[in-house]
Amino acid sequence: MLHVDRIADLRAACERARATGRRVGIVPTMGFLHEGHRSLMRAARRDADFVVVTIFVNPLQFGANEDLDQYPRDLAGDLAQCEAEGVDCVFSPSVAEMYPRPPVTTVHVAELTRDLCGAARPTHFDGVTTVVTKLFAIAGPCVAYFGRKDAQQLAVVTRMADDLNLPVEIVGCPIVREADGLAMSSRNAYLGADDRAAAPTLFASLRAAVGAVVDGERDAARVLALVRAEIASEPRIGLEYAELRDAHDLRPIATLDGSVLLAVAARVGGTRLIDNVHLRLDGANVDADLGIRRGASDAPAPA
Ligand code: AMP
Repeated sequence: MLHVDRIADLRAACERARATGRRVGIVPTMGFLHEGHRSLMRAARRDADFVVVTIFVNPLQFGANEDLDQYPRDLAGDLAQCEAEGVDCVFSPSVAEMYPRPPVTTVHVAELTRDLCGAARPTHFDGVTTVVTKLFAIAGPCVAYFGRKDAQQLAVVTRMADDLNLPVEIVGCPIVREADGLAMSSRNAYLGADDRAAAPTLFASLRAAVGAVVDGERDAARVLALVRAEIASEPRIGLEYAELRDAHDLRPIATLDGSVLLAVAARVGGTRLIDNVHLRLDGANVDADLGIRRGASDAPAPA
């Protein structure tokens, strides 16, 4: 496995791969890798020939009072995980390599970034879209893999690639969960024992909502009331938002129909967690993607 930390070296490696007819697949991450990241690597391994994982804790996407300094890091462990997944190249640049001077050029996706996580984190998505654009510019034509765990990020990056005609195909991958339903996240490492025990309530609230929709509920306000009540039952969790949106353009919906995103963000202790479920409704038929639960059996959990 190639490990590079210079932009020129990643660019050259991707160009070499394409010159020999290989398809480049890229998995952008902030490291401290877990099964969620590894599922993206496996998706890339399945359909690309030269798999690149990028590991970069991007200062631009952290707000002034956020956890940039505490963000967990383990480059040696990350490299071992990439090696185990058959990754071809890891790119782990320094901040100075990516931002030799403060950038005056940034990428802003309007509308889709205004609310949901954008409301509490007003500079976050500009940081994401700027660094992702830089990574795409360095890697060149490729397929890029993003988790549906960050559903708004996936919608924003997909729209950006389309609006800007970037030579990149964006692929969204299912949420990977712990056995008790908690969506895997590098930030779960912040949770103390009591908060860790409380955190699966977020998933339970999504499951309760899916149950109601499967039983025929289509009124967004009533579904959201159910989610809020479930989360309010756990005093350690402070809900930031629970929203039902059109899954593609993220506009609010009053009635559930078509492709729908139910997304939540909450504070558990001092840790901000997000989760979501994607629902596809066609008349009485409901298809809910609650992701994949990693249990002792490793089998996908029933919805
Ligand atoms: P991060 O390192 O948190 O920036 O995440 C890097 C990529 O991994 C993003 O595309 C995330 O959506 C994805 N990811 C993080 N956690 C999960 C998860 N539990 N399941 C699936 N994808 C995930």
